[in-house]
Amino acid sequence: MGPDAGTRKPGSIGASLTKGLPLDPEIPGRKPQEPGTGTAPTRRLAAGPPGAGTARPPTGPARARHCRTATIARVSNGSFPPSPGRRSGTLAVVLTALVPACLAGWLIWDSMGDPKSGGTSSLPTADSTSIAPPASGGPSGGATRHPKDDSGRPLTGKVVVIDPGHNPHNRDHPSAIARSVDIGTAKKECDTTGTATNSGYSEASFTLDVSRRVRTLLQDRGAKVVFTQDGDRAYGPCVDERAEIGNKAHADAAVSVHADGAAAGQRGFHVILPAAVRGGGADTSAITGPSHRLGTRLVTEFSEATGAKPANYMGDGTGLKVRDDLGGLNLSTVPKVFIECGNMRDSKDAAQLTDAAWRERAARGIAQGITDFLNR
Ligand SMILES: [Zn+2]
Repeated sequence: MGPDAGTRKPGSIGASLTKGLPLDPEIPGRKPQEPGTGTAPTRRLAAGPPGAGTARPPTGPARARHCRTATIARVSNGSFPPSPGRRSGTLAVVLTALVPACLAGWLIWDSMGDPKSGGTSSLPTADSTSIAPPASGGPSGGATRHPKDDSGRPLTGKVVVIDPGHNPHNRDHPSAIARSVDIGTAKKECDTTGTATNSGYSEASFTLDVSRRVRTLLQDRGAKVVFTQDGDRAYGPCVDERAEIGNKAHADAAVSVHADGAAAGQRGFHVILPAAVRGGGADTSAITGPSHRLGTRLVTEFSEATGAKPANYMGDGTGLKVRDDLGGLNLSTVPKVFIECGNMRDSKDAAQLTDAAWRERAARGIAQGITDFLNR
């Protein structure tokens, strides 16, 4: 275990719930979400809302013009003699043939979804953002792929809370971070030290670095970015305060940045979604839906920006995991997710996590996922 691990006291509910599961040490209460609880996000990454995208009448003038032109061309191309006695009959035949063809074309087109419509596609198999065409004339890098990024500052007026997991100074305040706080459904320690790579690169250093990169990218797009901590306080904040900062900021989106501390050989990233929790001071009923949408966009964009795959040790390959034991999610009243960017205890993942260029790509993926969500 890394240098941080020895200072961490496992949570009281962690030991029994996490048997056999790798842990990010700041999340001692990890447990798998049982089927049928929460929002069941692993079923599908990014299907649109129920009923959205069902066949709708074609309204675009370009589509209507396309079919009308085809009809005229067919009538005037000489294949049908223009005798006055047969013209109306011929037109009827042509229209009978072409109108259904156009309608079929509209329906096919419609079913493919409009890349700019942000999730109105009736296709259940892909996030619409993943099939958006590259921005014209621009490179295909993660930050510029989407047309909406070309509008200048697409996040103007939006508030984003970034929550860098842990705090580099937590290790110096073991008793303070061990105190118990109320997470709505249980008591849990204020905060933890986090994990580290085998070479000693701490998770707290990683989360701050990536979060600062994300902040720069989001601010460039016009967002107001609020941090829960910037390495500038003695320890913490506690997990309840981390949630409260997002709530008080009335954040449009909140993302907690972490890296995992699983076993070697367990690789990849995953996004943690809030379960449907109601009890004590927790009520996530209003945020599970939007948090799921935020999470699916993060999975898509993080994977694309970094080339990393969803975790091979949880989430059934979806990169999504629902949890009900995290105060930072339970107590949130704004859309919020955690992202575990990789496994610090796996040497291949660690090689990426310790690479500044990779962290920049990770930040771009996170920023793009947030941007996609806020531009829905
Ligand atoms: Zn962590």
